[in-house]
Amino acid sequence: MALPKSRHSKARSRKRRANWKLPAPNLQICPNCEGYKTRHVACPECGYYMGRAVMEVKES
Ligand SMILES: [Zn+2]
Repeated sequence: MALPKSRHSKARSRKRRANWKLPAPNLQICPNCEGYKTRHVACPECGYYMGRAVMEVKES
């Protein structure tokens, strides 16, 4: 197994990990309420999926 010749500094590891980010969610516009929703998931605003209500939405 390959062994590192010398230890990396903490800064070197942290600089590498600083570029490690989560991708932005792929948001779509809901055809029922025009709010943003994620694909293949019921709309969090109106609870609609595939043109019908599939869950109750709590009003706050
Ligand atoms: Zn909606």
